[in-house]
Parts: sequence; structure tokens; C-alpha cells
Amino acid sequence: MMRMGVDLGGTKIELVALGEDGSELFRKRIATPREYQGTLNAIVTLVNEAEAAVGCEGTLGIGIPGVISPYTGLVKNANSTWINGHPLDRDLGKILSREVRVANDANCFAVSEAVDGAAAGKGMVFGAILGTGCGAGLALHGRVHGGGNGIGGEWGHNPLPWMRADEFNSTQCFCGNKDCIETFVSGTGFVRDYRAHGGSADTGVDIMALVDAGDKLANEAFDRYLDRLARAFAHVINILDPDAIVLGGGMSNVQAIYSRLPDILPKYVLGRECRTPVVQNLYGCSSGVRGAAWLWEKR
Ligand SMILES: [Zn+2]
Repeated sequence: MMRMGVDLGGTKIELVALGEDGSELFRKRIATPREYQGTLNAIVTLVNEAEAAVGCEGTLGIGIPGVISPYTGLVKNANSTWINGHPLDRDLGKILSREVRVANDANCFAVSEAVDGAAAGKGMVFGAILGTGCGAGLALHGRVHGGGNGIGGEWGHNPLPWMRADEFNSTQCFCGNKDCIETFVSGTGFVRDYRAHGGSADTGVDIMALVDAGDKLANEAFDRYLDRLARAFAHVINILDPDAIVLGGGMSNVQAIYSRLPDILPKYVLGRECRTPVVQNLYGCSSGVRGAAWLWEKR
């Protein structure tokens, strides 16, 4: 059985076709047409190309930077705004004559890593993408947990736990609230905090180079970052106690997170014991598109 996954991003659409064992049979990436009908046509063209190349029909799952509202059946919250308000799954299903499954791209990330990635075989996997923003998703036994409101896993827009006085009321989030976890633990938040304390580097990579060189401001910023990340994950662990936390996004390449976070987490988890594995993703940028394919789970 062939499974096709599509990662529908704001700038590119990528399709991957997986064999039964998860091996890649076909992959192609194109620029995203910035209007709805063009986006539908582009996905249909990719599906037809993949099926012609592999020589059979397959299932189709799509990861989007938003979600289909369980109430209206229409896409909402997508930063590629031209798909908002449309029944993407049903429209594609009509054209392609099959059921099409759509899920949030961070949930696809969690599914990919839970099925055959860094947390392969783990029952409950929390995936957190720490990049420009901060997306997160939950996979239960390899399947998406979308939730009754379709926002399962959206931990990045909870407030930072156990806020210090100087953190409270400090940072406006795009979502309308202040002091969201995203504003502190995204790569953007890391750089903002470092600069607010007098640093001058522009990227997380540059700050981490300064950390390695022994720079004081950079080390203080990274210490604050790790403490905030530990507080944020402790809340997840206190509620769900997942079997693994998998990191994606630019900050997931910072190896010091994996060596230092395990020593900080027990400070904040109830009972002061915590051995939850926090691991780097296996599939990197491909996790979203592979997870979309795995929306049609193995039987
Ligand atoms: Zn927010």
C-alpha cells in the first residue's frame, strides 16, 4: 500500500510517497500558489505525478499550518491565509475521488516521529517545534490527537509557567495574549531575550557560538532559556506524562539542550523525579510530510 503525504506550507508544497515499510518512493517540492484554487490544482498535479511514477494509487494525508474546525469543517488559523474558510479535505476528496485526511503540521511532526522516528513505538509522544514560532502536537499510539476543538497540543499559547516578576507582562504574542510560552522558547524568543539583556547577535546559532566561546551574556541567556523550557515541559509532563518529548525546528539542533535539560526538569515536575526522554527529531524537515502520509496509519 502506498501512502502519500503533503506538507502544505506558505511558500512550498511538498509531496512524499511512502511504501509500506516507510521507504520513500517519490518526492517532489513546488512553490505554493498563493490562492485557493491554484493550491488545490497543485496538490492534484503532485498526486497524479506520484501515482504515475510509482504505478499505483495511494492514500493521501495533508499537513497544514492550521486546522480544520470540527464545528464548521473549514480551515482556520492557517498563516497561508488563502486556505482559511475552505473545506480543503472535502474539496480535494471530490477531485481525487477518495477520503483525504488533514491535520495540523505540528501534529504530523509528532506522528512521524512516533511511527518510525526518534520516538518510534512510544505510546504517547509530545512533539514541540521550536523555530520562528512554537508549534506542538500530540501523537497517541501513532495517531493524531486533534482534540474536540481541533487545538490539541497547542501548548505554545499557554502562559509561561511559574513566571518570575521580570517575565510577567513582558512580551506580547501575536495570538492576542501576553507571555505565551512561544514568546520565550521559540528561536525568536531566545534571540529577543538575549538582545533585551544587552546582547547583539541576531540568530540562535550566533548566540550558541558565543555560549561555546564562554561569553557571559550568551551563557546567561541560554541558562534562562533552558529554565523556561524546563518549566514549560514540566507542565506538559504534569498533565500528560508523555513517553517521549521530541524537538523540531531550529532550536532542536542545539545539542546542549539534550545534555542539560534532564538535570533541570526534576526541579519543576511534581515529586521531583523525571526521566522523560527529550530527544532530537530523526526526520528533520521531512517529519511534517512523512507524518501527513502516516495519517493513514498502519493496520
Ligand atoms: Zn500566544
